[in-house]
Amino acid sequence: MIRKKLGFDWRQSVKRADGIVKRLTAGINFLFKKNGVELIIGRAKIISEHTVRVDNQLLETENIIIASGSVQEKINILLPENILVEISELFKDRQIPENIVVLGQTSVAVELAQFFNLIDKKVTMLVPGKNIMPLADIYISEYMKGILIKSGIKIIFDVEPDLKNYDYKEAALTDGLTKTPCDMLINSKMRKGIIPESDIQINIENGFIVTDENLCTNIPSIYAIGDVNGKSYFAHIASSEGLHVINHLKGVEEKIDFKKFPLNMYTVPEVAQIGYTEKEIKENSINYKVSEFSLSANAKAMAEGDNTGFIRILSDNKYGEVIGVQIVAPHATDMISEAAAFIQVESTVYDVAKTAHAHPTISEIFMEAGFEAVDKSDS
Ligand SMILES: Cc1cc2nc3c(=O)[nH]c(=O)nc-3n(C[C@H](O)[C@H](O)[C@H](O)COP(=O)(O)OP(=O)(O)OC[C@H]3O[C@@H](n4cnc5c(N)ncnc54)[C@H](O)[C@@H]3O)c2cc1C
Repeated sequence: MIRKKLGFDWRQSVKRADGIVKRLTAGINFLFKKNGVELIIGRAKIISEHTVRVDNQLLETENIIIASGSVQEKINILLPENILVEISELFKDRQIPENIVVLGQTSVAVELAQFFNLIDKKVTMLVPGKNIMPLADIYISEYMKGILIKSGIKIIFDVEPDLKNYDYKEAALTDGLTKTPCDMLINSKMRKGIIPESDIQINIENGFIVTDENLCTNIPSIYAIGDVNGKSYFAHIASSEGLHVINHLKGVEEKIDFKKFPLNMYTVPEVAQIGYTEKEIKENSINYKVSEFSLSANAKAMAEGDNTGFIRILSDNKYGEVIGVQIVAPHATDMISEAAAFIQVESTVYDVAKTAHAHPTISEIFMEAGFEAVDKSDS
């Protein structure tokens, strides 16, 4: 039998991704038309509380919603142009070299580091702190750190990349003591808001537009949603914020609870969490318990030969209310929606244990962790 080695074609995958993006954006244009939304393409500048200019066109409006997104913080190091790659430039038709350095402590940094490792590149992660995923519970972050290191990714913590130099001869980043082979440095540092030009003073703090609980800026007619307000860096949260502002403008009173939004990471295995982290629960002096169930005892995961991971349900001891869920598992990013529903309707661990789950499914780990929590509360 002739065995063919599996390979990875960056050009083909970028082409495929572009095709999907094109189809999805065409769908949005269709929805705009269907719902009577006029799309004007150009760079917008805020002229007054009620006026926006796009190129030579002046638009008068009752309200302005800024949704200008975010961009990676710049790296202060002089690198050859072909070595330093911003994420916005990465997904293009290009050669992927051997030694890849990913700088950052974002979910995207972890996703990229693992991806390049999976396609057989030599990957180093430079982390400007002690934690590879500061937005995730430290338990998840440490677990994923173990997986990355085991797969051969070198992680260097507490990095001050601005102090590093590039050694052209050896194609390496160097800080005088160590040398990190580097043919490509991907900047995945924390993001900063893209602040649109404005003739009026809109309050900015730490690179983001300051907003109140209804996402209103210091100018009552101007709102800011999505990455630019710095409250989150996720697409589904940006969308929910948009809906919140529209409802608010229509007079619907509701509160955005950021703890009800899932945080997803497309790693292998996938990572997802919702609600409070253990650290936040402790900071709020809540009496709580953690119930954990490992995928190693899950029938479907075992049958599929992919049983790395776990679920952790964090619940308060008073009512047994589910206040946090963390999943590391194949399809964790889909499974977290079940946790979102539990949290939305303020379910208890008794509800989780009593919810029937088909067998064999990975989702059975919810029920098992629910039972474990109930057992713990009886003891
Ligand atoms: C590599 C990568 C992977 C990601 N993966 C995920 C993921 O898996 N799941 C997830 O939920 N999130 C993910 N995100 C984050 C997600 O893309 C953002 O949170 C989301 O796009 C934010 O939406 P937004 O509307 O605030 O900004 P954007 O989607 O960035 O849109 C802002 C738009 O405004 C435009 N703009 C800026 N200034 C002006 C101006 N003055 N005039 C006119 N237009 C202007 C920009 O060009 C841009 O088109 C990822 C981000 C990156 C970079």
